Amino acid sequence: LFNKSMGQHILKNPLISQNIVEKAGLKSTDVVLEVGPGTGNLTVRILEKAKKVVAVEMDPRLAAELTKRVQGKPEQKRLNIMIGDVIKTDLPYFDVCISNTPYQISSPLVFKLLEHRPLFRCAILMFQREFAMRLIAKPGDSLYCRLSVNVQLYAKVNHIMKVGKNNFKPPPQVESSVVRIEPRNPPPPVDFKEFDGLLRIAFVRKNKTLAANFKTTSVLDMIENNYKTFCSINEMMIDADFDVKQKVLGVLTTTGFLESRAAKMEVEDFLR
Ligand code: SAM
Repeated sequence: LFNKSMGQHILKNPLISQNIVEKAGLKSTDVVLEVGPGTGNLTVRILEKAKKVVAVEMDPRLAAELTKRVQGKPEQKRLNIMIGDVIKTDLPYFDVCISNTPYQISSPLVFKLLEHRPLFRCAILMFQREFAMRLIAKPGDSLYCRLSVNVQLYAKVNHIMKVGKNNFKPPPQVESSVVRIEPRNPPPPVDFKEFDGLLRIAFVRKNKTLAANFKTTSVLDMIENNYKTFCSINEMMIDADFDVKQKVLGVLTTTGFLESRAAKMEVEDFLR
């Protein structure tokens, strides 16, 4: 009945569905985006609390089932089902996002939501446990990684509850967790690609010093190339005695991060 490649694991424990919707703190004026409504276990509860639900479902069979579930009821008019891949869909306005997320799209979904404007108030999302732990990891935690920093740059992330695999039909391979994501508003004024590029270098070996990670030939070559492109686009002269290694180590020295290790650095450190 259910399609594994689409991550179809239906929540069968009503207490968990109820808890997820309660944690969203919905107002009667809210528009809620639900990703992957499936048969609608969460959807019907959200419709009790919110003004409107926009549900994006990739499987037309399940979308039809959900349509049937509300057909002829007053809720029908407040539910808009969009059929398609949420990652490729232009999302409409929403105040809150709720999703028992298909785990294949965890990372792209989080970034798609954080890029969406205007910013939403909060998102309550179910993920596989390890992904959730990466989202909330702090400097020094073993799961602290590029994802943790990128997401915490844009949002406050909290762990809400653990959900065992037997609460789903069919049960997935791994345990799950629900997290709350609240975007920082206004968002920090950084270019995501640049910031992510910095983190890629810093987290290549997250327990090595930044000096060590930045001193490799491949990293220095890349930075030198990017710098030359930047200068040519902006019609800037490059000094005859320009030395990329000296430049990079100079920046790390003046900011005081030469001997810092990504594994122990805060979001604010990377921003500096
Ligand atoms: N919300 C239901 C529940 O909690 O019982 C079902 C959750 S199930 C884990 C994930 C749902 O997302 C499935 O209905 C699946 O068809 C749908 N889905 C998978 N990939 C998707 C995508 N890229 N865009 C939209 N929906 C997707």
